[in-house]
Order: sequence, then structure tokens, then C-alpha cells
Amino acid sequence: MPPAPVQPNSPTPVWKVALPLPLPRLFDYQPPSGVMAAASDVGARVRVPFGTRELVGVIAACAEPDSDSPELKTAFALLDPEPLFHGELLESLRWLARYTHAPLGEVLATALPAPLRRGEPLADTHAWVWQLTEAGHTARERLRDGRPRRLADRLAGGPCDEDLLDEAGDDDWRSAARALAKRGLAERLAVPAVPRAPIPQPGPALNAEQQAAVDAVTAAGDGFAALLLDGVTGSGKTEVYLHAIADCLARGRQALVLVPEIGLTPQTLARFRARLGVPVHALHSGLSDGERARTWAAFARGEARVVVGTRSAVFLPLPEAGLIIIDEEHDGSFKQLDGIRYHARDFALVRGKALGVPVLLGSATPSLESLRNAQAGRYAHLRLRARAGAAQPPRVRVLDVRKRPLEAGLSPELLDAIEQALQADGQVLVFKNRRGYAPVLLCHDCGWSAQCQRCDAPMTVHAGGRRLQCHHCGARRMVPNACPDCGGLALQAQGAGTERIEETLAARFTDVPVLRIDRGTTQRRDALEQHLARFGTQRGILVGTQMLAKGHDLPNLTMVAVVGIDEGLFSADFRAPEKLAQLLIQVAGRAGRAERAGEVLLQTHHPSHPLLGTLLAGGYGAFAESELVQREEAGFPPFAHMAMLRAEAKQADACDAMLRAARELLREASPSLELHGPLPAPMPRRAGFQRAQLLLSSPDRRALHGALDAALPAIYALPEARKVRWSLDVDPVDL
Ligand code: ADP
Ligand code: ZN
Ligand code: ZN
Repeated sequence: MPPAPVQPNSPTPVWKVALPLPLPRLFDYQPPSGVMAAASDVGARVRVPFGTRELVGVIAACAEPDSDSPELKTAFALLDPEPLFHGELLESLRWLARYTHAPLGEVLATALPAPLRRGEPLADTHAWVWQLTEAGHTARERLRDGRPRRLADRLAGGPCDEDLLDEAGDDDWRSAARALAKRGLAERLAVPAVPRAPIPQPGPALNAEQQAAVDAVTAAGDGFAALLLDGVTGSGKTEVYLHAIADCLARGRQALVLVPEIGLTPQTLARFRARLGVPVHALHSGLSDGERARTWAAFARGEARVVVGTRSAVFLPLPEAGLIIIDEEHDGSFKQLDGIRYHARDFALVRGKALGVPVLLGSATPSLESLRNAQAGRYAHLRLRARAGAAQPPRVRVLDVRKRPLEAGLSPELLDAIEQALQADGQVLVFKNRRGYAPVLLCHDCGWSAQCQRCDAPMTVHAGGRRLQCHHCGARRMVPNACPDCGGLALQAQGAGTERIEETLAARFTDVPVLRIDRGTTQRRDALEQHLARFGTQRGILVGTQMLAKGHDLPNLTMVAVVGIDEGLFSADFRAPEKLAQLLIQVAGRAGRAERAGEVLLQTHHPSHPLLGTLLAGGYGAFAESELVQREEAGFPPFAHMAMLRAEAKQADACDAMLRAARELLREASPSLELHGPLPAPMPRRAGFQRAQLLLSSPDRRALHGALDAALPAIYALPEARKVRWSLDVDPVDL
């Protein structure tokens, strides 16, 4: 054997950069001239050339260049003096990239607010204070009575934080401050933000079960623990969160609270703010990029203490973490359905473990995954069995509507019950999980129905029957005057959505307000709050979709009528029963939250369906137990682990070819892996694209991931893969 070539000196290290590209690798760059690549750069952002583009990436490693690398490119600039990602967050995100089998660069980009993704510096998080100038101190006593004088008097005691001035209740202090500044009497200064000591407001005294739950969380103290808070609606879970957070704050730590997209209402925030007595940051899709970036920075610097946020808040840096809470942990909105398909609840548990802090999962209807973990002893199972305070559990009645005449899908018995509830001065909620006027437009003469031209789905009738809209791709058109097939004039809106139910109820109950709440009426985040505030506690009828299923205390709501659940009883998706049971329990939980007893009516054509029987007799717990037995027998999650490979293209053949080739590679990688497909997606055509999927399943999580690790490089390289858009979804929720 010839001797190994002598290396005169080992090559200088380069930056291995994770770029936000759908390519499963790092890219080598040498630092700009005058800069040495060092291990301490890992986690910092860099601006680099890529082809004809400029990209912002993150240094993932510092090492020798790959020997087979083509000519080494030079980075334009190192953007962070201190690495933006480090410690726990960087390690957890590396884990997420491995678990989702996604490129690290895309995962890191997903974790950042847009301005940081674009390469902007970490946002300024100074606090602003106002103080009197020297001239202000001298002139103060001579000022006339009025707002500027009152502000000057207040500032005479020393500089004052803008947040405190906001909270002091004078909404117009800013104009007074400007008036003083104009005369040179006051000035605004930036000071470093320091976390404020909490000034909490008292809440109700906890009952024994609530106290036991709080004690279990605080006992976990400085270590990781997963706790499932399984408490019926209105049992006081939020009170438990508030006490656990107060304890976390008292220990000088940060708390992260994740809530579902529709749970983050101003009402919720106000409750957290009032009770905790520290600034509570909110993070949701309604914020500007700048606001998101400032919150990120405030957490990274350890200035912010508490955040209540939706899914993406799980990516906040938590250098002083003390507690993570996931409210309504079963909620589907915690799973991201495109891009990096992560589950915020599952990632929060990974972070909690890495951070060494307790993770509290709360729900009245826990996911079967979490219940299984509790059964297996991996999570502590905390229960709140009774409603807090004076509230009683609602009575539930099933209305058999077989052979009954229906008006907009409502039976005479249901309409009578609504009438009675209104006569007793109550509020009624009619729940229907379908927005629009009617789900289908049908020609009574020839059977033609209005289909979306780009999706395999009927178009929904809107605007009182005048417009058609596709809920999958957003396409809109006017309802035709005549049938496009036979020219007949007998076009009929079939079935009922919330709009038609609203119309029917408004025509029948003319002396009470009827308010509809769905995505059509409630586009803006605070609109729901405003609608409900105007509605108040007077007698009247609310018609709504699942937007109304949670979050809001409606103290005078005495009756909930649930219609149109039947299709959920017979869905092909193995998760459909779980979703339906959760929805029914959550909607029913709206009734009778305060002193007045509540009643729930379930209208169905299948009154003896076993799901309804189990749910009514034994509650969600009994349902979940029997459902878990069935999942185990069928080999479905949580007893199996799944991943879905999806492909879409203009031609169905291209999807099929890609998935068949991928299937071969996966089969080679693991003979024991269960592979189902390729099959058309549940909606085979959407927005003009043909869609197909290949389902991977294994009882052994590691076997599934091992097969993916082995096969994915070859799948990326498939010539067939270039002709489609494809994606991998680990732990898919919509099959
Ligand atoms: P959940 O989050 O489980 O739906 P909440 O924490 O919102 O329940 O509590 C429901 C209602 O009961 C709220 O109005 C709350 O103020 C009240 N409440 C909670 N705990 C108690 C308690 N221990 N005593 C009296 N009222 C309580
Ligand atoms: Zn026709
Ligand atoms: Zn469409």
C-alpha cells in the first residue's frame, strides 16, 4: 500500500452553513477576508451568495471543507456578533430537524420571526421612560391645571415607564407628554428593559383537586416532568395555570403558555395580565413582523417573563425557563400542516426535557396520545372532576330526527326547545360546523351540481344563495341563472350552513337578536370579542361554527343545540371519532358555565350510534378508553408510528411514479415497514394539482425513522422527484 499523502498543514476550517433550502445538507463557505472561522460562531447568522441569489443562513458547524466540494465560496458577512441560536434552543431545533427529516436550514428559518430570517439585527427592546428636564422641574409649579400639569406632577417624583403610564388609566397622557416635550419641559429616554416584579391580583381560593394539581407542578420544581391536567370544561384549569405560573415567576423564571389559534382572545390575555401582574406577551398571527421580532428579542435577552402564544411561540428562546403549559393540548391547530410539519405540543415536551422544566398539558378532552402516555405512566395524570364554583354539568338530550320534517336542518322539537329557552330569558347557541349558506347547489331537473373547477369538491353556496365559493382553493363565482347542463331553472341550495340557519332562525324568532359567528363574519381577531360584547347577556340566539366552541365565557348561555354531526360519525379517517367526541364535549361545555343550569340537545339520524352512547353514559373518559382499545387492535397510533409521503403535480402519473419509486427505496431500507399506497389523497385534486400519498407505518418508532434515514438521500435524488412537489409528514394528523 502506498503511504498516505503527507498533509503539510490541515486545511483551515470553514463555516458549514444551514440554508433555508429544500436540500438535506450543509453548505461550505469561507469567512470574509479578515475573519477566522471559529467554533464559537456556531448558531450565528451569515449572509452568503447562492447561485445568483443572496441567502441568510445559520452556521451549523465549523470544520474542514468537504473534500468533494467544488470551488469554495466566500460568505458576504457574519451577521451576529453573538450567536443568535445557542444552547438548548439550537440543540432542540437540531433534534426537530432529525425527527421531521427536514433540512436544518428550513427548521431554523421556521423558528425565526421574519425580520430575523431576512438578516435584520436582533430588535431593540429598550423600555421608554419619561422624565422632567431641569427646566421642567423649575417650571412645573407655574403650569396651569390640566393634563400636562398632572403629568408633570407625576414625573416630579422621578422618571416613569411608558407601560406604567399606560396602566395608570389616563388614555391621553401621550398628548400631554408631547406638549411638555415641545416646551422643553420633559424628555423621553431609552433604558434597558428589566423584568418587573409581579403585583398579582388575588383569585378564587383553589379547591382540593386544583391545589393538588398546582402542588404536583411546583413539586417538579427544577426538573422535567410531564403532567396531564384532565379537567372537565369549566373545572378551573386556567386557575391552576395561573398559580403554577405565579410560582414560576416567584422563582425568577420564564413561563411559556401555548394556546390554540382561536383560544387566544383579548379576554384570555386580560385574565392573565390582571392576575399575574407582569407584562404578558402575546404571540399570534395577527401581530406585525416587528412585534414578533421584538418579543423574540425580549425573550432571548431574558427581559420578558410570560408569553401566551399560538403554535409558533414554541420556538421562543427561553434562557430562564421555568414552566411550559399547553392549554387544550388536543387541539388540531398545534400541528403545522405545511412547511416544517411539527407538532407544537410534542416539540414543547422535547424542549421541556432539554430545559429541565415541567410541562403541563391541559384539556377537558385529552388526545388519545396523551392519555396513552398517562396510562403508561410517562405523564402524571391530574384530574379536575367537578366544575368550579357554582356551575353544574349540563344535561344532554339526544333528539332523534329520523322521518321528522326539517327546516334548514332543524327539527320542530329543536325549534320548540329554542323557544322555551328564550322564554326563560336564556341565550341559545346553535352549533353547526359548516359555514356558508348551503354546502351544495343542485339542479333538480338533471342532477347537475356546482363543482369547483380546480378541486374535487362541491362549491359552497354563500351570500344568501347568490355566490359560490370553494372552501379549499378560495375560488369564487356567481350562482348561474340557469343550469349549465340542461338550461333548467330549478337550481336549489341543498342542506344548510350557518348562514341559512341564521336566516331561518331570524325569520322565526323575530323579537330576539340572532348573531352568526364564523369565519365569514369574524375575519379580524378582535371581531369575535366585539360581536359577543354587543350581544351581551340579553336573551338571543348565537349561530356558529367551532369558532364558538371554546374560549369565551357566555354566562347566560343556557342551551346548546348541536346539528349536523352525522357525517362525522361515519368518516373514513380513523381519527374522526376522536375529533367528533372532542368537539361535542367542548361545545356542550359552553352551556351553563355560571349559576344557570345548561341543557345540550344533540340532533341526529343515528341516535343509537355507539359513539354517542358511550359518550353520554360514561363521558369522554369512557369514550377514550374504548377508542384506545380499538386503536390498539387496529394497529393505529398511538400504538403505531406513521409518516406520510405526499406528492402533487399537474399530472397524476408523475405523483404515482415518484411515490412508487420511493416505495421501492423504503422497502429496500426496511422489509418490515408497512407501506400503504401510493393512493390518491382524500381530495385527489386541489387547486388544479393532482395529489397522491404513500403511508408508512410501524409499531416501532425507531424502525420507522431508521428506514427514512436510510432511504431519504436516494429519494431526494430520484429523477421522478424532480417532476413533482413532494413532502414528508411525520406523525400526520390528516390521512
Ligand atoms: P377551565 O379553564 O377549566 O375551563 P376556568 O379556570 O376558566 O376553567 O374556570 C371556570 C370558571 O370558574 C371561571 O369563571 C373561574 O373564575 C371560576 N373558578 C375557577 N376556580 C374556582 C374556584 N376554586 N372557586 C370558585 N370559582 C372558580
Ligand atoms: Zn340541470
Ligand atoms: Zn377549489
